[in-house]
Amino acid sequence: MAATPAPSSLPEPDAIIVGAGLSGLVAAAELVDAGKRVVIVEQEPEASLGGQAHWSFGGLFLIDSPEQRRMGVKDSLELAKQDWDGTAGFDRDEDEWGRRWADAYLEFAAGEKRAWLHEKGVRFFPIVGWAERGGYNAIGHGNSVPRFHITWGTGPGVLAPFIARVQAGAAAGLVEFRHRHRVDELVVESGAVVGVRGAVLDADAAGRGEPSNRNVVADFELRAAAVVVASGGIGGNHELVREFWPERMGPAPEELLSGVPAHVDGRMLPIAERAGARLVNGDRMWHYTEGITNWDPVWPMHGIRILPGPSSLWFDAEGRRLPVPLFPGFDTLGTLEHIVSTGHAHSWFVLTQKIIEKEFALSGSEQNPDLTGKDLKLLADRLGSGAPGPVEAFKQHGVDFVVADTLPELFEGMRAISPDVPIDTENIEREIVARDRELDNEFSKDLQLTAVRGARKYRGDKLIRVATPHRILDPKAGPLIAVKLHVLTRKSLGGIQTDLESRALAGDGSVVPGLYAVGEAAGFGGGGVHGYRALEGTFLGGCLFTGRAAGRSIARG
Ligand SMILES: Cc1cc2nc3c(=O)[nH]c(=O)nc-3n(C[C@H](O)[C@H](O)[C@H](O)COP(=O)(O)OP(=O)(O)OC[C@H]3O[C@@H](n4cnc5c(N)ncnc54)[C@H](O)[C@@H]3O)c2cc1C
Repeated sequence: MAATPAPSSLPEPDAIIVGAGLSGLVAAAELVDAGKRVVIVEQEPEASLGGQAHWSFGGLFLIDSPEQRRMGVKDSLELAKQDWDGTAGFDRDEDEWGRRWADAYLEFAAGEKRAWLHEKGVRFFPIVGWAERGGYNAIGHGNSVPRFHITWGTGPGVLAPFIARVQAGAAAGLVEFRHRHRVDELVVESGAVVGVRGAVLDADAAGRGEPSNRNVVADFELRAAAVVVASGGIGGNHELVREFWPERMGPAPEELLSGVPAHVDGRMLPIAERAGARLVNGDRMWHYTEGITNWDPVWPMHGIRILPGPSSLWFDAEGRRLPVPLFPGFDTLGTLEHIVSTGHAHSWFVLTQKIIEKEFALSGSEQNPDLTGKDLKLLADRLGSGAPGPVEAFKQHGVDFVVADTLPELFEGMRAISPDVPIDTENIEREIVARDRELDNEFSKDLQLTAVRGARKYRGDKLIRVATPHRILDPKAGPLIAVKLHVLTRKSLGGIQTDLESRALAGDGSVVPGLYAVGEAAGFGGGGVHGYRALEGTFLGGCLFTGRAAGRSIARG
């Protein structure tokens, strides 16, 4: 290995940012605004600029927005705080900073967040989505009201203004990108972080999100008064996910799909720890239970999350209906815990064509070409009849889908793709027939049907998200569909503990001089702004908020 440190073309920068995902780019954009000089060090090729956010659905959590009001939703900071507290369940000493970040973030989401983004050209789809509906009592987990604002342009639409700002900074000589530079060490002198050291990786023609080589061709060292760790979480590294898997959830499933590219590898976290930062809440993670195998994968074990409406019937691997209130889209981690307790890694949705057409959204920019491409004609197709193109493609090509006209054929298909687990199809049939009988009245003892009817009281759900209640066995609603669902890794809710300026904190609570952490690497603020569970749309928002805080703090000096 050559050991020639590659010099920076800038004079010593004001900051080095490790990671060119959303959080790093936001920090860089703030620094550019302040006229500061930045080097952005990124292990992946330029093709992957923007990191995970590029792939994201672009859903943002906002409180009492004009979009909510236009849809007839009454929201308030108090209601959102009630929801956040019930969801987070903060209960640890180390939650002190997470709680503070949560309060600050709620103020941001109810206050300047929308105007700040709007001023940068970010716009939202007018129908606000209702994620994590909860299903417990008013102080329990979940969103009391719809708050998931889909960015016009999805993830790339969130990234666009920050990429533009940073690229303008590069054109003005304030920003230097160092792609294929992997940080392996933070340089510490007299207790302060003063730079980074690492490996220059071989050039790679990998496309966006594809894994790239790790062949080292040189060393590098860069120095600056501030280093910002913006390196993302651990979801692409299943070894780490398993190592930190919380005991309270039971053993980690044997099979996991990856909801994030391989570069979400968690390597920077112990590197920051060695430089004096405190890592907290490593056992808090956010993984989905509605993962399907991508028939057209970009990264290893690539899975896509179904963002489900509430009508599909949910069965475990052996054919038992999931307990109340584990309905689709209600309680992600509650459902995960339950599925893990069955001893199997998968579960099943059983639904109709009529449900799939209205209720299956696939999370990810590439799965929503209408919203991502701001294509009104395609969008009109989504609102019309038939399943959206990408959903239909999964129905046709996806290995997890069974489509059939009759229940016996459906069960045969389910057995064929799950040969090792006996499925109690008699029970599934009994559940479906019983549930269908409950449709004779406008009211029912079946809480899922009651929830479906309640959801349709919200205009947005009635318009595009929740199918008119109908019998699963009504041939006019068919064909029948079964989907084998896998656990999909996604987000880390713990990370480097930080104060409200995104400065990394040491174990004794003091600031580690020169070191900042933002985005998922910082547990989206404080090492765990979400506590145990998340309200959705709070991850991109956490990158915006923590990245902005770091950039402004460094710019102030
Ligand atoms: C499909 C999908 C859908 C999503 N949808 C939503 C949504 O609708 N709403 C929402 O709020 N969130 C969503 N998210 C989550 C959100 O996109 C991420 O949590 C967020 O983008 C993370 O950004 P980040 O800047 O913290 O990290 P990343 O985007 O992971 O960027 C980190 C960067 O650091 C680089 N890096 C890491 N280590 C090193 C090192 N040692 N040296 C150099 N470089 C390094 C990595 O290569 C990477 O480019 C979604 C995510 C995915 C994948």
